[in-house]
Amino acid sequence: MKMNPIHIIGGGLAGCEAAWQIASRGVRAIVHEMRPLRATAAHKTESLAELVCSNSFRSDDHEHNAVGLLHEEMRRLNSLIMRAADANQVPAGGALAVDRDGFAAAVTEAISTNPLIEVQRQEIAGLPPDDWDSVIVATGPLTSPALAQAISTLTGEDALAFFDAIAPIIHRDSIDMSVAWFQSRYDKAGPGGSGVDYINCPLTRVQYEAFVDALIAGDKTAFHEWEGTPYFDGCLPIEVMAERGRETLRHGPMKPFGLTNPHPGTSKAYAVVQLRQDNKLASLFNMVGFQTKLKHGEQTRIFRTIPGLERAEFARLGGLHRNTFLNSPKLLDATLRLKVMPRLRFAGQITGCEGYVESAAVGLMAGRFAAAERGGEMLAPPAPTTAHGALINHITGGHIETIDAGPRSYQPMNVNFGLFPPFERALPLDENGKRLRGPAKALARKRALCHRALDDLEQWIGAARMAAE
Ligand SMILES: Cc1cc2nc3c(=O)[nH]c(=O)nc-3n(C[C@H](O)[C@H](O)[C@H](O)COP(=O)(O)OP(=O)(O)OC[C@H]3O[C@@H](n4cnc5c(N)ncnc54)[C@H](O)[C@@H]3O)c2cc1C
Repeated sequence: MKMNPIHIIGGGLAGCEAAWQIASRGVRAIVHEMRPLRATAAHKTESLAELVCSNSFRSDDHEHNAVGLLHEEMRRLNSLIMRAADANQVPAGGALAVDRDGFAAAVTEAISTNPLIEVQRQEIAGLPPDDWDSVIVATGPLTSPALAQAISTLTGEDALAFFDAIAPIIHRDSIDMSVAWFQSRYDKAGPGGSGVDYINCPLTRVQYEAFVDALIAGDKTAFHEWEGTPYFDGCLPIEVMAERGRETLRHGPMKPFGLTNPHPGTSKAYAVVQLRQDNKLASLFNMVGFQTKLKHGEQTRIFRTIPGLERAEFARLGGLHRNTFLNSPKLLDATLRLKVMPRLRFAGQITGCEGYVESAAVGLMAGRFAAAERGGEMLAPPAPTTAHGALINHITGGHIETIDAGPRSYQPMNVNFGLFPPFERALPLDENGKRLRGPAKALARKRALCHRALDDLEQWIGAARMAAE
């Protein structure tokens, strides 16, 4: 009996990788791509897998870097995107950068000539027809308005965002807790909290005034014309709030009320920056209300003047962009299916991952899940200790929605070690048999996380192969 094909909407990084993985398992795939019949605001060509901005896939160091590790895992999972990237590499130090035209041409060629893949150039302008029983929606941050509207109607008004408003996210272990302290405002426990959920960083009046001056003077990124007017939903960038009045922040995200500094010898803070837990592992905290268009270098410089954050390590910096993405932790199951309509699976940036590599990796997983399902198997995601597993886990449930009532907190994020469960075993000793310290310890920890990830990925590959045989 001839099996129905799996339909993929969107021939970007995620859609092409998904199609490749499906065809590699002997299942037919149809890719529906709207370009060149209908354009997006950022794509310039009709090639599949067009890179809309930078030509970099970021660090290729799979021993010490989370995205480098993701590259290596994808290579081991027979990724088309990584194969095309490796074949079109241009010199870029430790980064993997590509000739964008050569890269897109290689992916387009591989997809168009694969006998199990058909490419149809058409916009899917609403929910797919009922007889498409397995669909991967991989339409990216610039999903066409008609499809976005249909998804929004299906999932509920707040479930699909059209902008990201990202506040910086900081690694918990880089925050100085001899200055900062844990407390919820007025010690309120809220529905899901404990009363001591937030990390609070205190500022004196002098520090606050200097901070406001720095925000106003800081170098900002301009909005692209196509991003339109971005100030929405009360998500004003902090520097815009600072420009509106010197006290505005003190009565907004930096209000000091209901908080008491427990450290001995301290006085009442004039302003407080609050950080909220961002993942279930409690390894990442976001700066509440600190969405910003300050340039990245400026964010690091200015935010490190906040007491307690002098040595903050940022898992991601703030931003505000046009971006269509789902509230995935609420809406998707563990294999990326929409809970209310499981024939629809989501992949790529629309799931709330961020970046070329992450989008392709989520496409890779979606393709494997869909192909296994077509063959009557249920493929479990890889362990959360792998880069793929950490990413899927973050998207589909590892993220904390809110500790107390407030705006939804799920925002797009690159892969980073803060998404991985901590390494519990002892790290190796130095050449003198002593425990490692400082940067050497940090490097050893990253190396250990990478080795654990690759070991666990190999186990998953082996188990998946056995299940398919
Ligand atoms: C302006 C901009 C710049 C970015 N710069 C970078 C960067 O420098 N580095 C980085 O790592 N990430 C960047 N990103 C983020 C992101 O990683 C990329 O957008 C990435 O391409 C996402 O992959 P994707 O497969 O999810 O979506 P895409 O690669 O965008 O693919 C989606 C495809 O779906 C098609 N499509 C949309 N709607 C429909 C429809 N209804 N029917 C049929 N086809 C449809 C589109 O034409 C497109 O080809 C950027 C994003 C934007 C918007």
